[in-house]
Amino acid sequence: MSIRSKDLELYDKDSHQIIEENITKPNGDIVKKRYIKGRLLGKGGFATVHEFSCIDNKKVSAGKIVSKNYLQKTRARQKLMFEIKIHRSLHHTSIVSFERFFEDNENLYILLEICSNQTMNELMRRRKRLSELEIQCYLAQIISALKYLHSHRIIHRDIKLGNLFLSDKMEIKLGDFGLATKLEFEGERKRTICGTPNYIAPEILDGKHGHSYEVDIWSLGVLLYTLCIGKPPFETLDIKLTYKKIRMTAYAFPEQIKISDELKDLISRLLVSDPLARLTLDEILHHPFMGRNPIPKLIPSSSLAVPLSGS
Ligand code: ADP
Repeated sequence: MSIRSKDLELYDKDSHQIIEENITKPNGDIVKKRYIKGRLLGKGGFATVHEFSCIDNKKVSAGKIVSKNYLQKTRARQKLMFEIKIHRSLHHTSIVSFERFFEDNENLYILLEICSNQTMNELMRRRKRLSELEIQCYLAQIISALKYLHSHRIIHRDIKLGNLFLSDKMEIKLGDFGLATKLEFEGERKRTICGTPNYIAPEILDGKHGHSYEVDIWSLGVLLYTLCIGKPPFETLDIKLTYKKIRMTAYAFPEQIKISDELKDLISRLLVSDPLARLTLDEILHHPFMGRNPIPKLIPSSSLAVPLSGS
């Protein structure tokens, strides 16, 4: 492969693979877009994610690489195509932007908006617990993303720390639409049993009457608890016991951790076994926890490592 771009001279050719995307123009001509595959950002269940720098315009993205070997099973390919179909239709500041999608002989490539401050999982590993001010700020952004999704009849079904990415400005970006689904019509009930054990809603486990948007509200309750307490409310070493606790809504606030009555009240109105009795997204925004002080738009990146002063 001969690449003449001067920019390439800046890179070590052995360790920086060039990935080419063929783009067909309306007149049938094929033009090539070239990317330099840079450092590893992370590994998922079936994908590796690297920094991708576009040689032409210098834009840096997160490039999700999925091997075609993995996609040989038709079901895997279908699922990934559905994830792509949903994700590429979404445009919201609090949702990871879907940029491009292409393939070569070996892999499928999905270019996403890069979130350089990793996910809330890494943040929580470092911080253990967040202040209520931070929780307010993040919650406002997550609600905004969920309102957008639900208004397009999409249920995320996997709200959790690892799917909440952080941009360089510390904005929240909801990602990973691998378990998302779109309702065909309002009132449709979904029946697939899916989710992440600690975050799964009781009606999904129960399976009798199907589930809908409210499963995202339950997971939001689990998330809020995790952010202020430092571990999920129903976590045990045994998955069956975790499911039993979820079915019984058996959780408690440890006495040694100080949290406001407003936040406790909010969580207790989300972790409600009857899906229709849970607060709606608008009701969360109007809950006293969100109204007691002005909510900061962003949190400084110093909070990645140390608690905010005064909190
Ligand atoms: P999963 O297989 O769990 O869905 P992904 O394949 O989406 O995980 O991502 C694997 C890892 O790659 C993530 O945990 C994260 O560290 C990194 N990653 C994914 N998307 C991005 C992104 N948009 N920006 C930065 N890093 C990302």
